[in-house]
Amino acid sequence: MNNFSPEQSLSEAKREFDEHGGVTPSISRSATFTVMEPGTMPKIFEGKMTPDLGGCYLYSRHFNPTVNVLDRYLSAMESTQNAISTSSGMSAISCSLLQICKHGDHIVASNTVYGGTYALMAELFKEIDINVTFVDPTNPEAFEKAITPKTKVIYAETIGNPTLKIADIRKLSEISKNHNLKLLIDNTFCPMIVSPARLGADVVVYSMTKFINGAGDLIAGSICSTTDFINKLMDTHTGRVMLYGPTIDPRVAFDIIQRLPHLSIRMKEHSRRALAISEMLESMNVCVCYPGLKSHPQHELFTSMINEGYGYGGVLTIDCKTQEKAYALMSDLQNVEKFGLLAVSLGYFDTLISCSSSSTSSEMPESEKDEIGLSNGLLRISIGLTGSLEARMDQIKRSVTKTLLS
Ligand code: PLP
Repeated sequence: MNNFSPEQSLSEAKREFDEHGGVTPSISRSATFTVMEPGTMPKIFEGKMTPDLGGCYLYSRHFNPTVNVLDRYLSAMESTQNAISTSSGMSAISCSLLQICKHGDHIVASNTVYGGTYALMAELFKEIDINVTFVDPTNPEAFEKAITPKTKVIYAETIGNPTLKIADIRKLSEISKNHNLKLLIDNTFCPMIVSPARLGADVVVYSMTKFINGAGDLIAGSICSTTDFINKLMDTHTGRVMLYGPTIDPRVAFDIIQRLPHLSIRMKEHSRRALAISEMLESMNVCVCYPGLKSHPQHELFTSMINEGYGYGGVLTIDCKTQEKAYALMSDLQNVEKFGLLAVSLGYFDTLISCSSSSTSSEMPESEKDEIGLSNGLLRISIGLTGSLEARMDQIKRSVTKTLLS
């Protein structure tokens, strides 16, 4: 375990208050900004007078004061030099990859990634001749073997969606450095728990739609990296965020700013509850997977990667083996026991339950699903914070007993 405290680091980031002394930053909704002298404008376009250089704001697709506050907080939390927020997790992923890779290039990626990321790489990138080799994230040598002279990026999720397989970020970083590649890590499942940049990732991406926001009411993403990489993304001539334009709304950025201070409390509680429920299910001989269980094949590796005090995350899976059984359990959990909601997404304050194979991983061909051990009966459960833990444990115990063990 590492003793880095992302919550402390976040609390030490420069705070911004509004112009009247309010305790929150103001929401700067201007699309455009005035300058005093005409000569300032070309300098901003040339990147010589951007806000970080003591210059001016230009236009809110470029930089925006409220969004910049969120970016500063994210980079403090991640220990990166800089960050840029985007309108979705997918835009954070696609812009980062397209900033590094061009036509003819190659990516080595984990074969257990979110279905949208899989589709982006396996289908959309293929159309533009960016080719991807998918490998088992638990086998760093497989990444190294798949590297070709055209490879530019190694890509993985810290905790793979939905199989909960762990990527060994330290080893992947070693490999990427040896081959002069960039290591991109999607840390959506475990903000604060793991700090990928501290373990050697070059770029850390988030779907802030999930735990970081935590309220299930907005879509947003983040890219955390070096100032050099963020400036490339925002370059007025070639920046993929600047020119593809997945700009986050300052009101959305403000909402996330207001929820960041309790992210650490939420992550600890998601983790505490997910561990207690996983342990109970395991004791009932249910096929449960959770990185905090000693039976998780990479429990020790994950323990060596986490920041102390935040637990092992809020997501567990139950393999019901068949879709029929999974649907029976899902239905009982929502409609009879009121344990949670049948919905995709994760990191919400209520428990969210989905059958990955027929939903968020439905983009994957059956052969790939078989290869990564994703059965049609796998339920992904993002454990929420509402209700008493004891009552929640009783609810899922009854549901599982009725639908899986009878
Ligand atoms: N990364 C992971 C691990 C996800 O689970 C998701 C969405 O479920 C995404 C990225 C995409 O994020 P968004 O929906 O915010 O675009």
